[in-house]
Amino acid sequence: MREDLSVPPTLERLRRHLVGLRMPRALEMLDHMMRQIERGEVGALEALEALLAEELTLRESRRIKAALQMARLSTVKTLATFDFSFQPSLDRHRILALAQLDFITRHEVVHLLGPPGTGKSHLAIALGVEAVRAGHSVYFATLADIVASLGRAEREGSLRERIRFLCRASLLIVDEIGYLPISSGSGNLFFQLVNARHERGAMILTSNRGFAEWGEVFGEPVVATALLDRLLHHAVVVSIEGSSYRLRQHADLVPESLRPAASTLAQAQPRRRGRPPKPRGADPSNG
Ligand code: ADP
Ligand code: MG
Repeated sequence: MREDLSVPPTLERLRRHLVGLRMPRALEMLDHMMRQIERGEVGALEALEALLAEELTLRESRRIKAALQMARLSTVKTLATFDFSFQPSLDRHRILALAQLDFITRHEVVHLLGPPGTGKSHLAIALGVEAVRAGHSVYFATLADIVASLGRAEREGSLRERIRFLCRASLLIVDEIGYLPISSGSGNLFFQLVNARHERGAMILTSNRGFAEWGEVFGEPVVATALLDRLLHHAVVVSIEGSSYRLRQHADLVPESLRPAASTLAQAQPRRRGRPPKPRGADPSNG
């Protein structure tokens, strides 16, 4: 094939630079931008800016996609799709304040408590998505997954490595504390992880059980006490006392005896007016 001599050498060099710099989107946009410049629709500086902005947008969306996969935040639930009007007990401003993500840099623990279907996982994921967008590393797993992986690692002699892996993300989300009973010994493994992350990395925990029931959840009151000691130090507790979003159209079909007793949580975490509740052991210097 003969070389097309009508292609100006500068433009050809520009194309090669874009290939060399791996800027596919800018390369794709180049001809379109050149035509716009020729027609006098945009200035050269504007065109250059638009080209780089396109490339940056592509890179940013790829980074976010990869980071969401790494975080295991597959189902994308966002704050935008959360209907705050459905949960009047939940202070929207507290969640939006958490979405500013200062709790991550302060290595705090956020507890989302409430009966099933009240949006705990949705909010935890949504905060995780915000964190990924802001450039934080995030890892999401259920408590059952975490203790299973720690147990496996212990049997294989790689517990330290596993704990180190789970300490790598700047935000660890532990979903579904309290749904499944934890086998004996597993509470201790989880404690080792929590202890390793304590004051070094942020966590979001979701649970359908009040703290008073953690002894039961972890099978061993001593372990539960030690866990709560770490997890309520520098902590933010958000209690949701509402009905299930999943059952919103069928609430009448659920027998009375199975409806969530909001009182269990209310007892463990009394709701106060005004200032957000400060958990036991919260650091007074901590806001
Ligand atoms: P939980 O973890 O508290 O059991 P989920 O967060 O899994 O509850 O919520 C159950 C389902 O209902 C999910 O699909 C979630 O996206 C949706 N959902 C819950 N609360 C809301 C809400 N207030 N607005 C929009 N969707 C909600
Ligand atoms: Mg859930």
